Amino acid sequence: MCQTRQECPDCQACPGRQDRETNPSGPRPGPGPETPGTPGPRNQERQLRGITVSRELLQVRTVSRSFPVRSRGARDARGAEDAGEETLFVRAVNGVSFTLAAGECVGLVGESGCGKSTLGRLVCALDRPDEGEIFFDGAPLPPVSPASPAIGRIQMVFQDPFSSLDPRMRVGTSVAEGLESRGFQKRRPMNRAAVREAVHDIFARVGLAGMEKRYPHEFSGGQRQRVALARALVTRPDLVVCDEPVSALDASVQAQVLNVMRELQEEFGQAQLFISHNLAVVGFMCSRVLVMYLGELVEELAAQDLAHARHPYTQALYQAMPSAAGSDKKLVVLEGELPSPLHLPTGCHFHPRCPRADEVCRQKAPAWRELAPGWRVRCHKADRI
Ligand code: SF4
Repeated sequence: MCQTRQECPDCQACPGRQDRETNPSGPRPGPGPETPGTPGPRNQERQLRGITVSRELLQVRTVSRSFPVRSRGARDARGAEDAGEETLFVRAVNGVSFTLAAGECVGLVGESGCGKSTLGRLVCALDRPDEGEIFFDGAPLPPVSPASPAIGRIQMVFQDPFSSLDPRMRVGTSVAEGLESRGFQKRRPMNRAAVREAVHDIFARVGLAGMEKRYPHEFSGGQRQRVALARALVTRPDLVVCDEPVSALDASVQAQVLNVMRELQEEFGQAQLFISHNLAVVGFMCSRVLVMYLGELVEELAAQDLAHARHPYTQALYQAMPSAAGSDKKLVVLEGELPSPLHLPTGCHFHPRCPRADEVCRQKAPAWRELAPGWRVRCHKADRI
């Protein structure tokens, strides 16, 4: 029997098609392919349908977060012993500001180590900023009182679904934990039968109907990530931070999980901060993109404008996508390594790797420049690129 029948939208003869018609809550095929980063019909529909409503759910204002690092000092004259230690600070997030509207899906992209995950943890109140403020629905984060409107309304999906699930707990019990927590029960009391029903329903929606009694090791990687998604969405949060949710999965499983995520985002209408280093995935999932480099945002633009990005770093990320290069073109590779966040370059932090850098770039940090409503960039030469 065809092994991909449940994912195939074109198969007419497949018995799975009949299953879906008689059991609409079972696994469903995802939408057809859409070129990432281009205004495909579904991307257009998301914007035309007005999902980007004006209510600002999340406000991040000049947030910074540093971590201390012990550094061995210079050795003595014989080179045998340490002359001392000094504490340096890694500035993981540096003066980041952005907003997220209710129901909006915004992507956060950048290389590994640029501070994306730290920013995601700050937004989830798993960590506190050193400087700046974060507001969720008008209330400060982390919540300062048990009555804060932010409590229980933000969830996170982690990169590794196996380590984010308790291996000794049935997945249904893991998913039910959020509904049985004291905070949730205070806001929306549910008896045990209602909790069971809600868990059963969310498993059906992520395509794992009837699998609540299994343990995490009985699932494949993609199924485990769908369990993690069910656990995040069962409480119907208003904001979900997805931290590289598909980068640990192989390509075909990535497509399954992304399709499920997008269907559920459209159905439940929760806002999403989608963290990834893959611009293709972000272009597929999100209507707006934030580009991060060495702890700072360098460009913010609509996903449909990615092909016309003005910052050289965004351009390099876009041109490194195989789908953007075409068959007869070579992929553009960004030269050099990400500089150490312990010793940030002067002026524009991107200048050691930028093909357009000049003396002004080396001396002076660029300020934000607004190119159009919702499109801003930090580059001295944004007008000329
Ligand atoms: S400011 Fe200069 S170095 Fe920085 S991205 Fe623009 S052109 Fe490149």
